Amino acid sequence: MNLKSNGNEENHVYQAQIHLFKHIYSFLSSMALKSAVELGVIDVIHKHGKPMTLSELVSSLKLHPSKVSVFYRFMRLLTHNGFFAKTTVLKAKEDGDDEEDEEVEEEEEEEEEETTYALTPPSMLLINGESPCFTTIINGLFHPSVMDMWHSSKKWFGEENEQALYESANGETFFNFLNKDSEAYILGMFQEAMAADSQMMKFALKDCNHVFEGLESLVDVAGGTGVVSKLILEAFPHIKCTVLDQPQVVANLCGTQNLNFVGGDMFKSIPPADAVLLKWVLHDWNDELCLKILKNCKEAISGKGKKGKIIIIDISIDETSEDHELTKLQLNFDLVMMTLHNGKERNKKEWKKLLYDAGFTNYKITPIFGFKSLIEVYP
Ligand code: SAH
Repeated sequence: MNLKSNGNEENHVYQAQIHLFKHIYSFLSSMALKSAVELGVIDVIHKHGKPMTLSELVSSLKLHPSKVSVFYRFMRLLTHNGFFAKTTVLKAKEDGDDEEDEEVEEEEEEEEEETTYALTPPSMLLINGESPCFTTIINGLFHPSVMDMWHSSKKWFGEENEQALYESANGETFFNFLNKDSEAYILGMFQEAMAADSQMMKFALKDCNHVFEGLESLVDVAGGTGVVSKLILEAFPHIKCTVLDQPQVVANLCGTQNLNFVGGDMFKSIPPADAVLLKWVLHDWNDELCLKILKNCKEAISGKGKKGKIIIIDISIDETSEDHELTKLQLNFDLVMMTLHNGKERNKKEWKKLLYDAGFTNYKITPIFGFKSLIEVYP
């Protein structure tokens, strides 16, 4: 790059430095968010029921009083990043919001302003106990084994194998790590994270009701704890839903009249149904393994002739989109899938190849889930 090319070199080099530093330091925004979750800032404001001042936060969170000024700067970044909304109010003359019975006459004070912090729509997605809640995604993505693997990326790029970075760095696959008995809570955390995303389906289902209309049966392949199937059943109670997942995932889950959990292996066989749902599944696997899954899906709907269908919910990367931030998120997801599972997020061309290679003849991609798409596939 020739920074001196157009006689405006200072401006160019400053812009280049800003761009570079923005990317170098962006991990601090992620880390600050992780700390806010760990400290319980979001839950405390939520429980309080109204915006909180800095001193109220410091005392509720039991931070050391010497940390007030650093906590202010921490909140300043998170507020700038859209996780808190700041309002300036006149300083209350009495302490203790709920202690009306203790009304004490105080001397007239100078009117002082203070700042209060409220939650915003993105931080409301991190309230523990509310649905959806994405704190488990933060806990999972920032697990030391996931963060530390990046120190091995140079070694990984030099290796001649198909291992994901996670496996190369940690000596086991990410799914093995999740499934280890001693780490059962990690598997639970992962399933919770997936369930949180699935809760988002309640906002999208009304836009894709047509996909489920007329179905008598559906298999939710690798459906985790069955959150999506339950939401589908709320709208279409007559559909017979089967959730297929690994035996250890569904072992203790109870079905209902029209919801059945089956432990199995989607690479071996998938129970027959009118339709197969694959939500956030194919992005975990490379093309070769996706073909195996898709061929088993095709077999599962084969009894339905042209009526059967596969319903995929996954990212379809659109690098031409004018929404640069959305594409960036999709490309980041691709790196998560690549480094954790050797999986991938696919663009339209890659979906087309994969689906045609699996023997399907017709499909339609509709971007309706924020950063994900609905992909309807027909035999
Ligand atoms: N569809 C769910 C879960 C997606 S996570 C949702 O969107 O919430 C991927 C799922 O694949 C996990 O639940 C994992 O247990 C499951 N899985 C991995 N290997 C599998 C296999 N061989 N057979 C069936 N399920 C599998």
